[in-house]
Amino acid sequence: MTETYHNYVDGEWVAAETGETFENRNPADRSDVVGEFQQSGVEDAERAVEAAAAASDEWADTPGPERGAILRATSQALEARKDELTETLVREEGKARPEAAGEVQRAIDIFSYYGAKASDIGGTVKSSSSRDTTLYTVNEPVGVAGLITPWNYPIAIPAWKIAPALATGTTVVFKPASAAPNVARKLVECLDEAGLPDGALNFVTGPGRSVGKTFTTHEAVDAVSFTGSSAVGNTVGEQANETGKRVQLEMGGKNPVVVMDSADVDAAVDIAASGAFGVTGQACTATSRAIVHEDVYDEFVSGVVEAAEAIEVGPGLDGADMGPQVNQSELDSTLEYVDVGQSEGATLETGGNAVDVGDGFFVEPAVFSDVEPDMRIAQEEIFGPVLAVLPVSSYEEALDVANGVPYGLSASIVTQDLTEAHDFVAESESGVVKVNEKTTGLELHVPFGGMKDSSSETYREQGDAGLDFYTLSKTVYLN
Ligand code: NAD
Repeated sequence: MTETYHNYVDGEWVAAETGETFENRNPADRSDVVGEFQQSGVEDAERAVEAAAAASDEWADTPGPERGAILRATSQALEARKDELTETLVREEGKARPEAAGEVQRAIDIFSYYGAKASDIGGTVKSSSSRDTTLYTVNEPVGVAGLITPWNYPIAIPAWKIAPALATGTTVVFKPASAAPNVARKLVECLDEAGLPDGALNFVTGPGRSVGKTFTTHEAVDAVSFTGSSAVGNTVGEQANETGKRVQLEMGGKNPVVVMDSADVDAAVDIAASGAFGVTGQACTATSRAIVHEDVYDEFVSGVVEAAEAIEVGPGLDGADMGPQVNQSELDSTLEYVDVGQSEGATLETGGNAVDVGDGFFVEPAVFSDVEPDMRIAQEEIFGPVLAVLPVSSYEEALDVANGVPYGLSASIVTQDLTEAHDFVAESESGVVKVNEKTTGLELHVPFGGMKDSSSETYREQGDAGLDFYTLSKTVYLN
């Protein structure tokens, strides 16, 4: 029996007014139906916004420590269901089991972190030039936030938007991606169990063009935080700007690892391979370009080919190293980029074929050498396990190639030369810069965001910066 799951609006689990549902299947086994979810329409999204707006004053007036206690109780509720959530995540999105367990742990930690922060949100006292005046700032919640998330981190990304929003006293309407809504729904169950008041968070599944569009245009929504592709993000940005909202957009990447001649090549291979093939290459921070000094190029290519060929591809629930792509269109897109790379004249060193394991969307990790900077496989986000290796002959050339794409999310340099490392930190056009580390992997207490087409740049997520987006500051002169 396939379970049918509901929206969560004003504290109740409800069916969509449309009467329609959509089916979600396991990407490692198409015969396995994960569940039926509500194919909601504009009316359902509007009800959710109205509920969030009605709950706004009460949640804003709830003392910070009380809000924090609910977030910490959510963290505990997630912790109690950790194994179940991990299994759900693997089954609906396809990650390898340790990757999914790490993501669930991240959601647990995020709620605990912002649960502690919620008490400190009030504001700050400043000294005034007048002895009779007490000068201070008060932080107020932004109001109602519309949160729109992608499928590739289906519990961590919702957590890193929902937790800071609720911590500030902002109420939320939230739409998960249709490819992976189940673990997000379970996160909402944990918030409900933790005692979140009705209407403070509303969860509606369904298409971006109806639910997402309503959340980004409705006049009662004050702020929109979106993570997803650049194409959709730009539309969301326009929709939200037209209606005068605060907007945060986190979008795609084409993240480079620069490998210099001084590098420890074995370490560089590990860094590039784990960044490129971890989570099946389906991370916004995935390494998709290795820009390698000619003196270590051949050694690097043979190392990274060996690493790719050692990866066991298969269902995460069976313990494979690398799971499937999330659906047919993502698999088709990766296979198409493999064809494009070959037709552009790059050398396919290994991989790039669909893998016939069970009935899922599996592909072999692929490595291209002899890649030129203007080829499509060196410019466009692939979002699959494909690494393009580009030769360069100097640091300056490596920097030009690294910066020569429209994106700027995460970039790494592998070098033993401290000057080169500092130069790269200063000169990389990228929101996250790493030295001798993979481009993927983020700490939750420091800001995260991109430059150029990767981000709207105005607000960062995570850490203290993650609270700013949901906060309005008022300055008070009290004489
Ligand atoms: P997507 O852009 O297709 O969808 C993202 C969300 O937007 C989904 O919930 C979708 O339903 C919704 N949406 C679609 N059309 C909409 C509209 N007109 N109005 C409002 N909402 C709409 O992205 P995806 O395929 O789910 O995720 C993969 C993408 O996400 C990749 O490009 C990846 O780089 C990016 N990503 C970025 C980050 C980051 O922090 N920078 C993190 C993870 C993923």
